[in-house]
Amino acid sequence: MALLNREELKKKRDKYLFTSVKQLYSEPPHFVKGKGQFLYDETGREYLDMFGGIVTISVGHCHPKVTQVTVEQVQTLQHTSTVFLTQPMVDLAEKLAEIAPGDLNKSFFTNSGTEANEAAVKLARLATGRNEVIALQHSYHGESHLAATLTGNHHYRSDNMPAAGIVHAANAYCYRCPFKKTPDNCALECAKDVERVIQTQTSGKPAVFIAEPIQGVGGAITPPDEYFKEVKKILANYGVLFIADEVQTGVGRTGKHWFGISNWGVQPDMITMAKGLANGLPIGAVIASTELVEKAPKQQINTFGGNPVSSATAKAVLEVIEEEKLMENALTVGNYLMDGLRDLQKQFPDLIGEVRGKGLMVGAELADKDKNPLAAETARIVELSKDDGVVIGKGGLYGNVLRVKPPLNVTKENIDTTLKVLKKAIESTAKVGAK
Ligand code: PMP
Repeated sequence: MALLNREELKKKRDKYLFTSVKQLYSEPPHFVKGKGQFLYDETGREYLDMFGGIVTISVGHCHPKVTQVTVEQVQTLQHTSTVFLTQPMVDLAEKLAEIAPGDLNKSFFTNSGTEANEAAVKLARLATGRNEVIALQHSYHGESHLAATLTGNHHYRSDNMPAAGIVHAANAYCYRCPFKKTPDNCALECAKDVERVIQTQTSGKPAVFIAEPIQGVGGAITPPDEYFKEVKKILANYGVLFIADEVQTGVGRTGKHWFGISNWGVQPDMITMAKGLANGLPIGAVIASTELVEKAPKQQINTFGGNPVSSATAKAVLEVIEEEKLMENALTVGNYLMDGLRDLQKQFPDLIGEVRGKGLMVGAELADKDKNPLAAETARIVELSKDDGVVIGKGGLYGNVLRVKPPLNVTKENIDTTLKVLKKAIESTAKVGAK
């Protein structure tokens, strides 16, 4: 394959791809190679990847052990589908049962987070005989008709005929509290909103509540410590199931625990996963209890779901996370990153409104003194950081959150580089504004 230079590639991309598939950068590099925490463009220039292919490269690009497992599996058996007996899918399901909290011990495999959420909602509806679903404002749950309606963010909801039966509760967004409270005087109004929504926007008998433990696309929005316990109490009172969408927070990203929701000491009825589970190969999974799964549809198939290549790779990813103690690293290095960002916040209080997250699921919300979101400034800082060789993500309903979610094996030295580059980009932006 002849490599195109970035201008030629950009032109060709614009000609042949849907215009709705947006690029992060106005001047995008053409990435041709990845190794560990680094990406390389067509000129050989190195970039520190602090976004991990949108929170997907969990153990570093082309990790030698993981890649070897993938290659061996590709050369041995790539596909049969779930109607035939193959071992990699079963081995992965066994591993997921081992790491999942409580009685979650059976898996259904898909190719993406969207499909995993679709399958989880379907199971919830069948298991409860109910239909309505509660999701949170500012959430992101996927691209399909149902998952886009679950999503509480208009940028991803262009469909003006939403799926039926879905309502949204306020999210636990302390920096911009929907109830104008502060964490010390709020009495968890956001959690209580779930009950208000059940009482006023549903039949009183919804099937399921779905939430990301930390909202990813929403901008690393991290609920207070008691939030999910309070929500769980309300759900129990109304017989409502709970799906933890761990597409971003799963596989140890938040440090300490395999799954983000465990940071809140709460047991979900289902967990959905994707992204980082196979370090970039397409995969999705729903994990549920045997009791719940017995109420599943009579027959279910997903042609590529649980394919031997993605399954063997995912199991290798989980093993590497254990062997290389990457959860511990996510916690230590993540705290180091947040400390560094909070230092920057002190230096630029008119630009950085809040730093939040857990482990390596980190966001910095850019806002002025009056909390006005600084979207253009955020885009500028992301672009300048890339020009200086560091890839950082962007998100939030207002497009004003820097998202720092690197591979779990980043080092303190990588964080120092990131902070240095960010500081330069912020300094320059503080001087000239969004220009
Ligand atoms: N849930 C969450 C929390 C996500 O962040 C995403 C992807 N950004 C999805 C679901 C959808 O996953 P996919 O793009 O693999 O369909």
